[in-house]
Amino acid sequence: MKSFMEEVAATPGGENIRACIQCGMCTGSCPAANKMEFPPRKIIAMIRAGMRDEVLSSNSMWYCLSCYMCTVRCPQDVKPTELAHALESLANQQGFRVKGTRTPAMYRSFVSSIKGNGRVHEVGIMLRYYLMTNPLAALKMWSQGLKLFVHKRMPLMPNKVKGKQDLAKIIQKFTEIRTT
Ligand code: SF4
Ligand code: SF4
Repeated sequence: MKSFMEEVAATPGGENIRACIQCGMCTGSCPAANKMEFPPRKIIAMIRAGMRDEVLSSNSMWYCLSCYMCTVRCPQDVKPTELAHALESLANQQGFRVKGTRTPAMYRSFVSSIKGNGRVHEVGIMLRYYLMTNPLAALKMWSQGLKLFVHKRMPLMPNKVKGKQDLAKIIQKFTEIRTT
């Protein structure tokens, strides 16, 4: 059986984890570190220690903003941003759910829009997202949405691409590869 470290290293985005020297530059650069249960350097130490459940049930990767500060500053090219996404993927595949994070709902809304239209449809994404999380929160965004609509930046109906069935096949194939 693979160790947790080997499992992470075999996941796209986690390949360079063994190069980490625990210098802490990633945590020192991370604008979301104070929201995370375990900041980037510590998460890597925990992965090395085989703390699978603690890592995959934590909120840390879900709070990553993908700002890439850690990635550009890491002296070892570990790519902690990609590592965060690898951990999201593993947590999702293994059924770990984290209270208080809405990121998975946003990802699911995004993928659903791409599968259905072949491209992003902002209104559809936000409708799905708020229905899955907190419909009342959508009310706070109405003025922002109205401005975007008036400036023709947020069409009500999706603009579908040609050949979206082909795109759906690509997504399906990718999903099969990721789960085998
Ligand atoms: S900056 Fe890179 S080498 Fe340093 S602790 Fe973070 S991941 Fe490891
Ligand atoms: S990419 Fe994520 S982990 Fe890296 S510094 Fe930004 S928020 Fe922190």
